Amino acid sequence: GLSVKNVVEWINKFSVKIEQNKQFLSDLDTAIGDGDHGFNMSRGMNAVSQKLDLEPKTITDAFKQIAMTLISTVGGASGPLYGTAFLEMAKKSATSDDIGELLDAALAGIKKRGGAKPGDKTMVDVWSVLVPEVKAHNLTQEKIDSAVAATKDLVAKKGRASYLGERSKGHVDPGSQSSGYLFEALLETEG
Ligand code: ADP
Ligand code: MG
Ligand code: MG
Repeated sequence: GLSVKNVVEWINKFSVKIEQNKQFLSDLDTAIGDGDHGFNMSRGMNAVSQKLDLEPKTITDAFKQIAMTLISTVGGASGPLYGTAFLEMAKKSATSDDIGELLDAALAGIKKRGGAKPGDKTMVDVWSVLVPEVKAHNLTQEKIDSAVAATKDLVAKKGRASYLGERSKGHVDPGSQSSGYLFEALLETEG
C-alpha cells in the first residue's frame, strides 16, 4: 500500500512538473480560457511543497494538508476540483491505502463537485481514462500522453472553455494536461 513517503514523493514530483510547465499550462489556458492555469497551479503547489516539508505523519494527514492548501491558494475552477480530489483521498485513506481505490474516490469527488462527464473536455477525461489503468497496474507514459492529447478534438461543455463552443476544438484542455503531470508523477514514484 501507499506510505506517507510515497505520497510526499509523488506530490513533490508533481510540484516540480507544474513549476517546469507553468508557462505551457497557462499558454494552453490562453487559447481556450483566461491564461492563468499554470500560474494558479504553481502558486498552489509551491504552498503544498512547503506544507509537506513539515513531514505529515500519516497519508490521511498528508492528503488533508494538500487538499486544504490547494483549496485556499489555487483559486479558479481548478483549485476546488483538485482540492476535492485530495480531500476525498484523505477520507478514503481512513480505510484504504490502495492507490486505485483512493484515485477512484478522488475522481468521484471531482465529478460530483464540477458536474462534468467524460467527453466534456475537462480534467475528468484524463482521470476517467487513467484511474482504471492505475487499478489494472497498466499505467504507462504513452497512455497518459494519449489521454491528454484526446482532449484536443473535444468541444468543451464545462468550465470557461465552454463559452467558446465549437471554437474550443483543436486545443488541449489545460486541466487535463496538469492532471497528466499528476499521473506522470505517480508513474515515476518508487514502490
Ligand atoms: P479558471 O477556468 O477558473 O481560470 P483554471 O484555469 O485554473 O481555472 O482551470 C481550468 C481547468 O479546470 C480546465 O482546463 C478544466 O480541466 C478544469 N475544469 C473547469 N471546470 C470544470 C468542471 N466543471 N469539472 C471538471 N473540471 C473542470
Ligand atoms: Mg484559467
Ligand atoms: Mg481564472
